[in-house]
Amino acid sequence: MSTAPVPPNEKPAQVRRGILFIISAPSGSGKTTLCKQITANVPGLWHSVSYTTRKPRPGEVNGKDYHFLDETAFRQMIDRNEFVEWAHVYGNLYGTPRKELTEKMEQGIDVLLEIDVQGARSVKKKFEDGVYIFILPPSFDTLRTRLQNRAGDSPEEIQRRLQKAKEEVWSYREYYYIVRNDDLKQSLKELESIFLAERTKTKRLNMTWLEEKFILD
Ligand code: ADP
Ligand code: 5GP
Repeated sequence: MSTAPVPPNEKPAQVRRGILFIISAPSGSGKTTLCKQITANVPGLWHSVSYTTRKPRPGEVNGKDYHFLDETAFRQMIDRNEFVEWAHVYGNLYGTPRKELTEKMEQGIDVLLEIDVQGARSVKKKFEDGVYIFILPPSFDTLRTRLQNRAGDSPEEIQRRLQKAKEEVWSYREYYYIVRNDDLKQSLKELESIFLAERTKTKRLNMTWLEEKFILD
């Protein structure tokens, strides 16, 4: 006896659209460290590279950490509508390029965005279905120590980021998942489980194989 075929209107989509993961955090929480590890550990995840007018920190590589450019070139990209979102952050401009993000998602590849709270709000208006994750430091003192130990930002810049963090932590309410980044290994485990859970949600799965394997007539 064969199983009744799935009614056409219940047939699953042929191509699974990529999932958009959005990670935000107060500066110094460990977002970049975690995102780098996650991209290396989770197969099939594409980490979008943002554009910025900020100067590179020691060790940062153009095209890998960011696309570094001047304000004129950045504003030309805005005029050409080349950003999904862009924002002023700590006195510089940052933007998420549109073209590759759209292409990857259409190809079914999952995309990771590492952007600030304002950027995440803009993206949420366009991608309600995205997975919004917030990273928090375990305490204000730890945040200060991490910012001071990271080479590259002046004491004034660190002060500015710490001040902003006092407001930004409360944005956690706008996110679906929270990771308290105390122990790095534990945080990575938590993040990986979020990615896995989201990938196995019914609504995100490509189930075309089921028909092929179970309806044999
Ligand atoms: P963000 O991208 O959020 O600004 P970074 O990833 O640059 O933060 O991390 C800030 C600093 O804190 C870096 O020097 C990083 O090595 C360190 N760091 C990140 N996560 C941890 C952690 N769990 N424990 C200790 N140090 C950490
Ligand atoms: P940093 O200068 O420490 O690399 O980044 C400063 C802040 O800008 C961080 O919160 C980071 O997530 C955010 N950021 C990086 N790229 C983008 C982007 O494309 N758009 C927005 N809105 N923020 C970004």
